[in-house]
Amino acid sequence: MEVAQGVHLLEATEGSYAYLVLGEEPVLIDTGFRGRADRILAEIAGIGLRAQDVAHIALTHHDVDHVGNAQALAAATGAKVWASQGDLPYIQGDRKPSGLRGLIRTLAPASPVAVHETYAPGGRVGGIEVLPTPGHTLGHVSLRRGDILFAGDLVTSRGGRLRPSPGMLTADKAALQRSLRDVGQLPFQLVCPAHGQPVARGSLWEALADRS
Ligand SMILES: [Zn+2]
Repeated sequence: MEVAQGVHLLEATEGSYAYLVLGEEPVLIDTGFRGRADRILAEIAGIGLRAQDVAHIALTHHDVDHVGNAQALAAATGAKVWASQGDLPYIQGDRKPSGLRGLIRTLAPASPVAVHETYAPGGRVGGIEVLPTPGHTLGHVSLRRGDILFAGDLVTSRGGRLRPSPGMLTADKAALQRSLRDVGQLPFQLVCPAHGQPVARGSLWEALADRS
């Protein structure tokens, strides 16, 4: 589904949406639950892109429903995989998360992903701005292109409202609050989360403060 010009929500990743952003260097933001690489590639082909045209795979954080197809898609496309320094050890399989995340990972194991590049402060991936937004995980990032915020799990949307990342899965609540506040200073009009449909910002970001 094209949610804005050149920005596609990939239906094959329903449950934890990945987005394909077209441009000189097309970027896939997150990769969904594992086992869906073939469907994702078919959907990309349907958009009119060859697999090898995908230049970058930008991971917002290490959770299994975001990194699930990263290794398979990197192999199929030749795209460069990007991750934050903070989440890198979990994504590469060098470290296991603890607590509830550890339990989730035991129930839904993730294949290690070979990461090619880590985000630099103030950096960009394929022309898309990378915003450090720690909280949900310590290395969580969001991305922004023009009017569109790709929020990862910084927020979720439901019924046309936004909520912060669920408390049970928030690694650092104070950091999450700071991230929400900092991102709120930026101009964007459309919020594209992993969980829930894209939603127009309106005054929803301001209402977040009351819900966290
Ligand atoms: Zn997550």
